[in-house]
Amino acid sequence: MKYSEFFIPTIKDIPSDAEIISHKLMIKAGMIKQSSAGIYSWLPLGYKVLKNIEKIIREEQDKAGANEMLMPTIQSSDLWVKSGRYDDYGKEMLRIKDRSGREMLYGPTNEELITDIFQSYVTSYKELPKNLYHIQWKFRDEVRPRFGVMRGREFLMKDNYSFDLNEDSAKISYNNMFKAYIKTFLRMGLTPISLRAETGPIGGNLSHEFQILANTGESTLYYDKELESLDPESLDPDKLQSYYAAVDEQHNASKCPIKKEDLKISKGIEVGHIFYFGTKYSEKLNAFVQDQYGKRTPVHMGSYGIGVSRLVGALIEANHDEKGIKWPKSVAPFKLSVVNLMPEDQNCNTIAEDYYSNFMTLNFDTLFDDRDCSIGKKLSDNDLIGTPLQIVIGKRDISQGVVEIKDRLLNTTEKIKIDDVKKVVLNKLNS
Ligand code: ATP
Ligand code: MG
Repeated sequence: MKYSEFFIPTIKDIPSDAEIISHKLMIKAGMIKQSSAGIYSWLPLGYKVLKNIEKIIREEQDKAGANEMLMPTIQSSDLWVKSGRYDDYGKEMLRIKDRSGREMLYGPTNEELITDIFQSYVTSYKELPKNLYHIQWKFRDEVRPRFGVMRGREFLMKDNYSFDLNEDSAKISYNNMFKAYIKTFLRMGLTPISLRAETGPIGGNLSHEFQILANTGESTLYYDKELESLDPESLDPDKLQSYYAAVDEQHNASKCPIKKEDLKISKGIEVGHIFYFGTKYSEKLNAFVQDQYGKRTPVHMGSYGIGVSRLVGALIEANHDEKGIKWPKSVAPFKLSVVNLMPEDQNCNTIAEDYYSNFMTLNFDTLFDDRDCSIGKKLSDNDLIGTPLQIVIGKRDISQGVVEIKDRLLNTTEKIKIDDVKKVVLNKLNS
């Protein structure tokens, strides 16, 4: 993509209601635009990141055996009345009447709808287990929408729902998702900390929250230091769940089961939440199957959420400096920038065009900064939008036969011979 043809409305003046760094940087970098309180348009740069995050989540869900589908955003109130949550949900639910006066709502979550879909088709234990998910916009009329996309009213969530014959089998499904979650966050370059959680209004008896570490996070986490160095290739959910991890309110220094030198204290942001809630919805919404003995039995369910749009903010909270965003490679909107500081110079142009077409041909999403603007603006914009690798082409360097390569994550620069650049950058992109 040529920068001159791309819509990145970077701005200098940040609105005063942007309190936290990710919100400020997303607005500054032209990633989002507020449309009304807690509701945002995703501009091209922000949308690219949202899609990259979605892709990682989708791949890990598919690998874990979940089936992707898509349920509507607008639901009828009927199923919610049956489950008893129509009144319970209170003001957080956006209620709408259609032209015939029927009560509709913008889904804040999908337990009711999915349970109804499931019970319409599945009648035998032989068809279990099943695990269905979708990535869909939700609406919750939060009391205080704030922190940009971190607590929006309209937000994108990946939510899935597992259906099993009994509790033992449901716990296997639960652990399978637990593992998929850890893998998902590790792939995004984040450090996930899982904690036993309260089940809240969704109900049930087993639940974990997934937080990621970020100095600017809202929660204070106390956890076993082992959790900071997980190997994605060998994740044992039972073992992971046995490590000590607690939030502020749960932690009691005198009762802490692990040694002081093994205890870490850091700030975290909640990005995912999983629940096993047994037969709570299946009983109310008639999701029964015949078991091995021909007996009708309610299915055991779990639900699993990841805040897809919140993750964009959380990733920035975890990866930024005073110049702007530092995207981990796996989610970066562009893997590479080719920054031509001297577009009016024929030589610089030829070299820049050559690198750009080379990396585009190799399928690396590359941003070619061909703009006619000051050198300072070019450098600061590319740092602000956080491209992890940058090839910076300047007239003086070229006359000395070199080009500068900047690693935004490590904050290092090196001069590389013009002819070696493709090889060196390719190695870095693949590492
Ligand atoms: P919170 O305690 O932050 O309100 P929750 O318990 O209501 O979260 P869940 O219903 O478990 O959240 O939703 C699953 C995930 O969706 C959360 O872990 C979070 O990442 C995300 N999420 C929830 N509410 C919002 C929101 N208002 N804006 C953005 N993401 C959200
Ligand atoms: Mg909530």
